[in-house]
Amino acid sequence: METKEITQEKLFQSFCAPGIFREYTEAPFEQNGYVYATNGHIIIRTPKDLYCSQAATLEKPISSFVFDGANKSIAIDFNVSEIEALKTEPEYRVLKKSQECGTCEGFGEVTWEFEHHEREDDCPVCYGSGIAEAEHKELTGNTTFGTAYVTIYDTPLDVKLFYKLVQLNEPIALIKYTSKTQAIVFKAGQYDVGIMPVSSTGDYPVIKIL
Ligand SMILES: [Zn+2]
Repeated sequence: METKEITQEKLFQSFCAPGIFREYTEAPFEQNGYVYATNGHIIIRTPKDLYCSQAATLEKPISSFVFDGANKSIAIDFNVSEIEALKTEPEYRVLKKSQECGTCEGFGEVTWEFEHHEREDDCPVCYGSGIAEAEHKELTGNTTFGTAYVTIYDTPLDVKLFYKLVQLNEPIALIKYTSKTQAIVFKAGQYDVGIMPVSSTGDYPVIKIL
């Protein structure tokens, strides 16, 4: 598979949640000397001087309290493959309007095979058009996380959010833990990352981190 260089700006955008009509989740923004990006469940920041791109300034203060008083430094050790073993669900990509259908490669027809008999038929994904419709989902062939959690001091975090921290590919330290209902804050290289816990893990898989 092709490896793509992920720019810092793209990295920050991947922490945003555009389209939910909150100014601060639309795009990375700058405030009190840092650049932040958040989707409301996870927030990342880096000193402004270390951010390679431009970010809009947001005046309304919304973010720094998450990081206030972050003064611990507890190294977090974990097994990445143990976490990645929780990737048990098929991954889909959402195809944009008028994109070529990936299943039939735009031909509109696929070949069905049954005991050496072959039959051409309309592609069941694009219904013979060869073009994928808006919001059309297609399997990528990869797996992704199902519902699963990691715990820090018995406090559950969504594994998908914790994995965003893992993907920064830096040594991770816990720098703030307040309670089971407040964001837990980590440091990874030049980045600080706060993750909001969930209240319960139900019967879903859990990996204890700390
Ligand atoms: Zn098709």
